[in-house]
Amino acid sequence: MLETSEVADVTIVGAGPVGLFGAFYAGMRQMTVRVIDSLPQPGGQLMALYPEKYIYDMPGFKRVLAKELAGNLLEQATQFGAELHMNHKALELNRLPDGELELVTQSWAFRSKTLILAAGAGAFSPIRLSVPGIAELEGNGVSYHVQDVNRLIGKRVLVIGGGDSAVDWCRTLAEAGAVVTLIHRRDVFKAHEESVDWLLNRSGLPVQLWTEVANATKGDSGIEITLLENRTRTLQTLVVDEIVCALGFKADIGPIKSWGIELDGSRLPVDRYMRTNLEGVYAAGDIASYEGKLDLIATGVGEICTAVYHARTHIDPTSRFKQVHSSNMF
Ligand SMILES: Cc1cc2nc3c(=O)[nH]c(=O)nc-3n(C[C@H](O)[C@H](O)[C@H](O)COP(=O)(O)OP(=O)(O)OC[C@H]3O[C@@H](n4cnc5c(N)ncnc54)[C@H](O)[C@@H]3O)c2cc1C
Repeated sequence: MLETSEVADVTIVGAGPVGLFGAFYAGMRQMTVRVIDSLPQPGGQLMALYPEKYIYDMPGFKRVLAKELAGNLLEQATQFGAELHMNHKALELNRLPDGELELVTQSWAFRSKTLILAAGAGAFSPIRLSVPGIAELEGNGVSYHVQDVNRLIGKRVLVIGGGDSAVDWCRTLAEAGAVVTLIHRRDVFKAHEESVDWLLNRSGLPVQLWTEVANATKGDSGIEITLLENRTRTLQTLVVDEIVCALGFKADIGPIKSWGIELDGSRLPVDRYMRTNLEGVYAAGDIASYEGKLDLIATGVGEICTAVYHARTHIDPTSRFKQVHSSNMF
């Protein structure tokens, strides 16, 4: 038997950075808000995938550790009384006869007038490196994100990849005192230009392009890796203490796919008001899809302000005329 909640103005699915900022912004608009998340701790990808990584593209911060940003967002999110329901996976969405929405988890039916989906990439898992020896070493020298940077101080670390997370890991680990090498299978990076410039021109780190791991085994002096130069097919050996694979993530939004919301793969197309095709249902952050979309925290928090604003107007059309700047709230 499910417990049934009071009707809130808005339910936000996802306590990642975007959902947390949305809870804050809904509080600013004096909306009653609850946030639900399937994970035990708030912070989304910041806490689940890269708590120890620095983020360099956050307004107001030269750089900030992901776990610190998540803590700040949580404090900001809850100041107006937003309810947080962790360990609740959104399973079903029903429209009640009076038009209200009912979001069903394992044990609760959460009712609200509007819904904002900030479910990110859904349940995420890293793209694994599929070469001989790597699977056997996972958790014992091979990892897909770094849980504890301090453990790698003074250690020889091979970072694999060409995106932002690979380059950011190089920077975080090198600054912490690890001895870092990066390999990338191409000569084009997906990371931000400034990060690539730092890596190639200012970091002084060894970077090997057109290079892949052919195999890896644990020996007496560390992990012995055979590296393949993929144009000349030449082989070389590298010995390290740790391999950090930063090859990206695959995502699955799971039950949300069966709610009748229009899909774009694992994303939800939105209009310029951040509305999905379902009335009263909005999307923001990584899960929202539109032409030219960037998957960044800075983009997502802007999107959810738009979603909250229009959810508020959906509930009360006269509210659009009210002042929405922050200076008269405190
Ligand atoms: C390694 C790495 C490094 C990155 N570095 C940066 C960076 O430096 N700067 C930057 O701007 N961005 C960075 N990003 C991207 C950034 O993390 C994402 O853009 C951001 O997390 C998106 O926030 P979100 O709140 O939309 O989604 P998420 O952070 O994914 O949070 C979504 C939440 O929804 C929950 N959820 C999903 N489905 C359900 C469900 N059915 N029921 C209940 N809860 C559900 C999930 O558990 C999760 O907690 C990085 C990403 C990665 C992987």
